[in-house]
Amino acid sequence: MLVAALQQELASLDAQGLRRTRRTLDSAQTAHVVVDGKNHIAFCSNDYLGLANHPDLIAAAQTGAAQFGVGAGASHLVLGHARAHEQLEHELAAFVQLPRALLFSTGYMANLGIVTALVGREDAVFADRLNHASLNDACLLARAEFKRYAHNDLDQLERLLATTKARRKLIVADAVFSMDGDIAPVPQLLALAQKHDAWLMLDDAHGFGVLGGHGRGVLEHFNVAHPRIIYMATLGKAAGVAGAFVAGEPALIDTLLQRARTYIYTTAMPPLLACALSKSLELIAAGDGWRENLRQKNIQLNQILTNSLPAAWRLLPSLTAIRPLVIGDNREAVTVAERLAQRGVLVPAIRPPTVPQGTARLRISLSAAHSAADVRTLCDALIDVGKGFCVS
Ligand SMILES: *Cc1c(COP(=O)(O)O)cnc(C)c1O
Repeated sequence: MLVAALQQELASLDAQGLRRTRRTLDSAQTAHVVVDGKNHIAFCSNDYLGLANHPDLIAAAQTGAAQFGVGAGASHLVLGHARAHEQLEHELAAFVQLPRALLFSTGYMANLGIVTALVGREDAVFADRLNHASLNDACLLARAEFKRYAHNDLDQLERLLATTKARRKLIVADAVFSMDGDIAPVPQLLALAQKHDAWLMLDDAHGFGVLGGHGRGVLEHFNVAHPRIIYMATLGKAAGVAGAFVAGEPALIDTLLQRARTYIYTTAMPPLLACALSKSLELIAAGDGWRENLRQKNIQLNQILTNSLPAAWRLLPSLTAIRPLVIGDNREAVTVAERLAQRGVLVPAIRPPTVPQGTARLRISLSAAHSAADVRTLCDALIDVGKGFCVS
């Protein structure tokens, strides 16, 4: 029976502690949420600057709805490209200081569209092993040779680049790794791209708005720019809304406009979201206080948790809002998350295949919307729960 086979697979996920479930949010996404009718402090969202529920963005979306209606009604290339989208693309390009930008409805779709538009069967993609699933899917869909290098292993990447016979070469990497919080060595990746005449595509989903003096992201963080860089960032994380964009050379953007199937064959994002995003960009640019606030919380977390948790647990260092606490065992990670939830603190347990086997973890996401007291509550709960596991 087909259904029985599915039931068996689900039971097997259960047995391995890998079955995924959802909670239902009864409030806006912010630091303090109502989940299934109960109040919690949440460290689960990618809303790093606290913009998802910002009154100025809500007002901009309302004004946008009044002006443009609710639905875009068509794809960008038919008649779905509104003045609000057009203006936002100019603002995004100016913000990241690149010649042009193109808006996509989601980051997943941007990655699929960019990679498949640029490479095909005669080409090769070189990808960090810890890249986001959407980049891996993009590479498979492109049918290019798909070469993965060990996380941040520049020597291995160079060997792969030196031996390929591919027509076109594309290096792809998360700029900030989504489950580890570390930053890719962008200047070194760029040097390799130059030496081996490859494109360098960076997915800055977690750096945009957070890294750099003005929140312009990883390029500002390293102070790099180059025509062979394909810069992609998402707008549903620090920007607090939805969507994504790619920025770079005009010829690159024009090519994507002609060829990126996830751009062409889909309805444009509602223009009201583009209105909210224009406001979001303004707030991000003026958001140095929020970024400083994140830095302070990072320090606070280190200070309280260092030497206070079971020795087998590892709090990974990070300059971003992503602070993974690696626990190892799948079920132990889930149990810790459940016990925190009983104390009113929500932190997601991330398990394989999202992360490598044996590295199940709590992915603590900090936000400028958290107070120092919220972080204190999280740390106290973690220390308390940790006592139930061997401290050695
Ligand atoms: C979230 C994420 C995406 C997907 O973006 P969506 O807009 O949520 O589809 C792509 N890449 C990375 C690294 C991400 O973290």
